[in-house]
Amino acid sequence: MDQNVIAQDKLYIGGEWRRGRGADITSNFPADGSHNATLPGASLEDVDLAIERAQDAVNDPAWRKLLPHERATYLYRIAESIARHADRISHVQSRDTGKTLSETRALAMSASGTFRYMAAALETMEDTLTPPRGNYLTMSVYEPLGVTAGITPWNSPIASDAQKVAPALAAGNAILLKPSSWSPLVCLELARVIEEAGLPKGLFSTLPGAGSIVGERIVTHKAIKKVSFTGGTATGRDIARKAAGKLMPVSLELGGKSPTIVFADADLDLAVAGVMFGIFSSTGQSCIAGSRLFVERSIYDAFVAKLVAATERLKVGHPFEATTQVAPLIRPKHRDEVEDHVAKARADGGKVLTGGERPTGSDYKDGTYYRPTIIAGLGNDSRLCREEVFGPVLAVLPFDNEGDLIRQSNDNDYGLASGIYTRDFPKAWRIARSLDTGTVWINTYKQFSISTPFGGTKDSGVGREKGRDGIRAWMAQKSVYCDLSQAPHPWAKSAL
Ligand code: NAD
Repeated sequence: MDQNVIAQDKLYIGGEWRRGRGADITSNFPADGSHNATLPGASLEDVDLAIERAQDAVNDPAWRKLLPHERATYLYRIAESIARHADRISHVQSRDTGKTLSETRALAMSASGTFRYMAAALETMEDTLTPPRGNYLTMSVYEPLGVTAGITPWNSPIASDAQKVAPALAAGNAILLKPSSWSPLVCLELARVIEEAGLPKGLFSTLPGAGSIVGERIVTHKAIKKVSFTGGTATGRDIARKAAGKLMPVSLELGGKSPTIVFADADLDLAVAGVMFGIFSSTGQSCIAGSRLFVERSIYDAFVAKLVAATERLKVGHPFEATTQVAPLIRPKHRDEVEDHVAKARADGGKVLTGGERPTGSDYKDGTYYRPTIIAGLGNDSRLCREEVFGPVLAVLPFDNEGDLIRQSNDNDYGLASGIYTRDFPKAWRIARSLDTGTVWINTYKQFSISTPFGGTKDSGVGREKGRDGIRAWMAQKSVYCDLSQAPHPWAKSAL
């Protein structure tokens, strides 16, 4: 690995670069297994130190007394700093995760946009004067929570990190960031740009380490006033249980098994492109991957044939090649898990229409590649349609009418996202309002805007990120009543 890119082996704790005192974490390049870096992870003492420094920093008048537009200045600077170093961040992220450079660059720029948006939202955020029911002013105001934490997964690190760090800081908090051990390097790049932007020391620390050790300490520590978690549903449930023990608010962005729907009247080229992008971009390692495809029966055979043919033309390749559409999976163990899902689907009677194997050839032999896979012949209650694969594996199913479609789409534990392809907009609207998912895309898929809230229903999570209210999710609401009469309360008057 280019040492100019991973130039140090220290963590950013309490505003200083320190050697982690926890277990080593190794990052390898998924395209060929070569070694990126070995990093000493955070220990429990490191977590405690980060919390101590964060408490000092968040209570320091130099931060606490800043007016919103002054606090926003730091976020604007972080946004600029990320944009300035986007190439470097992108390179590190691609080495760490195996994602294509074009995707990681977009993620870096999206992180920059998140800081900019949250700065602007902070500057324009208003408290509320509520209608009084007496001779007083009544107000609803929002205040920082204190020391908070973000726990993030490996699949889109810089973007999911920014979605937690930016609103947390905008809200006036300190934040500890615990990234996944599978992608430990990107958070250090975020720490560098935050340091470059001059954020007061202690407000941000990054603590890569095992979830069961570092993550658990963060969640259970009494000084942590909120955890925003993105990751798997089982982990999210565990965190929610622990948070309940100390009555701490949590936001949970969890897994998905999102339905994509193609009606017979759809623009079929647009639908094929959207379906492929929805499931095979990011090599399917996306919470919102459109992994269950429902196609209206009258066009089912023709549409699936067109989709299979187009899927076979996708370029599986090296993350640094500009033409690559499907890059390697994050690591060998994860590819084993994807393969296990496909084996189970075959055992359940599924018919693999394309893929279902590793690509062959010298270009692929050392990387964790897997071919885009389409499987037919399984019902909506099959394991493939119930379990999140988190890889490039699509289940295709026919549907007969709107009632059948809504029933099947919603008959799933998850409720993160969905996609609809049709030229009939009243129908699209009707279906969109009937789908039990946090996001619905119509004639598109996997499009995001920081100004539009995001989150799931059912096992896909609790709470929303992004949007103007994204900052308030990191604040404590307070009601203030201010008497205007300047007269003693009539109840006590006789006693005066
Ligand atoms: P994961 O749940 O294994 O890990 C996520 C994070 O939680 C990691 O940092 C991990 O170290 C930490 N963690 C693990 N156990 C912990 C514990 N007991 N206490 C505290 N922290 C702990 O998930 P993953 O494999 O990293 O990511 C993939 C999952 O994330 C998929 O299910 C995917 O759908 C989901 N995801 C959801 C969204 C969303 O916005 N809804 C976005 C991306 C990924």
